[in-house]
Amino acid sequence: MVKSIPYGKQHITQDDINAVVEVLNSQYLTTGPKVKEFEKSFSNYVGSEYAVAVSNGTAALHLCALALNVNDKSKVITTPITFAATANCVRYCGGQIEFCDIDPDTLVMDIVKLKEMLESAPKGTYEGIIPVDFAGYPVNMESFRSIANEYGLWVLEDACHAPGGYFIDSFGKKQFCGNCNYADLAIFSFHPVKHIACGEGGMITTNNRNLYNKLLQLRSHGMVYQGNPALLENHGGWYMEMQSLGYNYRISDILCALGISQLKRANTGLLRRKEIALRYDEAFHNTEIKIHVPKNDIGHAYHLYVIELDERKRIYDMLRQHNIYSQIHYVPLHTMPYYRMDSSPSVSLINSETYYEKCLSLPIYPSLSKENQEFVIKTLLKIK
Ligand SMILES: *Cc1c(COP(=O)(O)O)cnc(C)c1O
Repeated sequence: MVKSIPYGKQHITQDDINAVVEVLNSQYLTTGPKVKEFEKSFSNYVGSEYAVAVSNGTAALHLCALALNVNDKSKVITTPITFAATANCVRYCGGQIEFCDIDPDTLVMDIVKLKEMLESAPKGTYEGIIPVDFAGYPVNMESFRSIANEYGLWVLEDACHAPGGYFIDSFGKKQFCGNCNYADLAIFSFHPVKHIACGEGGMITTNNRNLYNKLLQLRSHGMVYQGNPALLENHGGWYMEMQSLGYNYRISDILCALGISQLKRANTGLLRRKEIALRYDEAFHNTEIKIHVPKNDIGHAYHLYVIELDERKRIYDMLRQHNIYSQIHYVPLHTMPYYRMDSSPSVSLINSETYYEKCLSLPIYPSLSKENQEFVIKTLLKIK
């Protein structure tokens, strides 16, 4: 019998361990040099101007919503096929969420449906949109930006699934997820199941200096410290000034050291994920299992490998009996009791609902052995 095979898993090397131990022996456990170093390497990796490391992806989303001035008059659009935190960040600030259906091929927010929503509401109804690079599929941020400009919306990219993913824009240029050439802000998570693991951790990227400065302030209690020209007064060396209502959403140097070390292997991990996805593609094409093969010019980051099939519950249970722990991403958010309570959705979300009936995420992570993947494929083809 095979040991249990999860749908995703972190990969820790001796280099990672050494990096963490080095910080434990150093002067700073938090808010030291490793935080800045992680931010610098991460913004280099995705191609953004600025990066702000925070305690987790949810904190990253909350800080973005605060920096964008989301409040109880705000209405924001996102996809129902995402992790709850994507929508919750708007609720934290008292704003309202409305869901836009997905494109059944790419599984990300359907731009045509989004246009319909925007056109059918009076101008100014919505403040922003939060597209999600679901499963690692890079949303075409250039197209979303152009609609956002037309309606005066901000764009926050939830890129938790897609560090290293990219699309080609209309100028033929590779646009990496979270580079913020088209989005105002983007966020990432370093939960162990994501590409880069810190245990807990998150990152915000942006090219907007104003937003960057706000985020730095909000990350640490809304404080402005010595040396910052934004100080309104200065009573002496001890003096710091609370200028807004911020939080403690800082990340420690210990975790950033792990992040820096992990980031060095991000591209290797991405290649492994792609290899695994291709092997699944080959195994399932010409079967009744629906697969999602991206177009050639799409740089899919494969956080998840999602299939769609009939009798999903039976298959899920049978796989578990074989120690294969597939997962469902996600229960559509508009069907959650919390969001149902709010109001019934004003638009049809039929693609999201149909997708949910059939979807299953198969094991995909860099250390998944060929043998174990073959076992997953063989078992699935046998029981389906
Ligand atoms: C993981 C995830 C988050 C939240 O990140 P945490 O670090 O767990 O708080 C937000 N959005 C998406 C799409 C995610 O997958």
